[in-house]
Amino acid sequence: MFVDKARIKIKAGDGGDGAVSFYREKYVAAGGPDGGNGGNGGDIIFVIDDNFSTLIDFKYKKKYVAQKGENGGAKHCTGKNGEDLIIKVPRGTLVRDAVTGRIIADLSKKDRQIIAKGGKGGKGNSEFKSSTRQIPKFAKPGYPGEEFELSLELKLLADVGLVGFPNVGKSTLISVVSHAKPKIANYHFTTLVPVLGVVKVEAEKSFVMADIPGLIEGASDGIGLGHEFLRHVERCRLILHVLDVSGCEGRDPIDDFKIINNELEKFSEDLAKCPQIVAANKSDMASPEQIEELKNYIEENGYKFFEISAATTHGTSELVKYISQELDKLPPIKEYEPEEISQEEIQIQKDSRNKITVRKEDDVYYIEAQWLEPILRTVNLDDYSSLQYLQRVLQTNGIFSQLEEMGIGEGETVNIHGFEFEYVS
Ligand code: GDP
Ligand code: MG
Repeated sequence: MFVDKARIKIKAGDGGDGAVSFYREKYVAAGGPDGGNGGNGGDIIFVIDDNFSTLIDFKYKKKYVAQKGENGGAKHCTGKNGEDLIIKVPRGTLVRDAVTGRIIADLSKKDRQIIAKGGKGGKGNSEFKSSTRQIPKFAKPGYPGEEFELSLELKLLADVGLVGFPNVGKSTLISVVSHAKPKIANYHFTTLVPVLGVVKVEAEKSFVMADIPGLIEGASDGIGLGHEFLRHVERCRLILHVLDVSGCEGRDPIDDFKIINNELEKFSEDLAKCPQIVAANKSDMASPEQIEELKNYIEENGYKFFEISAATTHGTSELVKYISQELDKLPPIKEYEPEEISQEEIQIQKDSRNKITVRKEDDVYYIEAQWLEPILRTVNLDDYSSLQYLQRVLQTNGIFSQLEEMGIGEGETVNIHGFEFEYVS
C-alpha cells in the first residue's frame, strides 16, 4: 500500500530530576550537599532512509516517545542522559506541526534533523549551596521534553513530473526512457502509486522522472483519483504533459490539455507556473492531420511540442535530450524552508503551559496546573527554604490572590495535586 500522509504524536524525553543528598561519612555529623544533576532527556531525530518509499509505518505506530534522563544521584552523580529516538522516513518527507500547519523540517537533503528536543536535567542540591544557604534541602526538577503532534507528508523528489489523463501512455513512456517498471494496461488508473525512474542522458548525466497516477477532471476538488497525487509534482522543476494525439479513446487531446491545466491551476498556482513541455503520444496511431492540428494549437499557446510514440520509442530520445537541456537552465528541486514559530503560537503554548485551575469542593480548594507537577515532585515539604521556594512560585503566579478572591479563610485546606496544607495569610 502506498501511503503518503500520516499524523503522529512525538514526545522528546523529559530531563531527570536533580538529587537532594548530603555527604555522609562515619563520625562526620553532616557533610555538604552532594546531590547530582539529572540527565538530559533524549531527542527525537528524523533520519532519511532511502530504503523507504512510503509513510506506511506511521499508519500503524502513532506515538513516539524518547527516553527520559535519569535522576541525579548522591556523591555528585549526574543522571544518565536519555537515549535519542531515531525515526526513519523516506526522502522527501515534509514535517509540519499538525495543529498550526507550520513547516518544521523538510527531509530531502539534510539526512538528519532534530525535530523535538529533550528536556534538560534539573540541578542537584549541590548546585544551590551559597554563603547564606549552607544546607539546601531541595533540587530542581527536570524540564519537560518538547511534544508535538505532527503531520507528515511525502512529496517525492523528481526533476520532471508526468501529467495527463489516464491511458495516454505515461507509464509506457517512463518505462522506455528509464529502468522504472510501472504497471501498464489498457484500462484507467493502472498507476496507483507514483513511480520514479532515473533517465540517463549521457554517461554522467541523468534526471529523475515521476509517473503519477492519471488526473481526471475534478481531481483538485477531491473527486476521483489524482488530486491526492498532485503533491508529488509540486517539487518538480518541469512538467511533461502527455496527450493521446490519436484520440483512440474517443477524447479530444485539446480538451484534455485544457482540463488538466485547469486542474493544475486549481490545485496550486505554483504548479500552474511550472515550465511545461507537451508530448503528443500514440503518434503511431494518429493521422498527420491530427498531429498537425494539435501541434498548431500547442505551439500557438507557447509550449514546446514533441510528437512521440512511447510504444515504438519514436521521438523519445529527442524529447529526453531537450528535457535535459531545459533542466540545465532551471533552478534545483524545490526544498521547503522551516517556518519560524509565530508570536501567536508562542503565546498559545505559554498559555497552555501556564494554565492554572482553582476550584472549591467540599470546603477544600483544589489547585491544578500541569507545570506545577515537576516542581512539587522535588519540593521538600520538611525543609523551610524549599517550602519558601514553593510559596514564591504560588505567589508570583497569582495563585494566592486567586484563592483570596474566592474568599479563602484562615486555616482552610488547600490541595495541590494531592499535597494538602492549611492556608495561613
Ligand atoms: P497511462 O495510464 O497514461 O500510464 O498509460 P499506459 O502507459 O498504461 O498506457 C495505456 C495503454 O496505451 C496501454 O495499452 C499501452 O500499451 C498503450 N500505449 C502507450 N503508448 C502507446 C503508443 O505510443 N502507441 C500506442 N499505439 N499505444 C500506446
Ligand atoms: Mg500509468
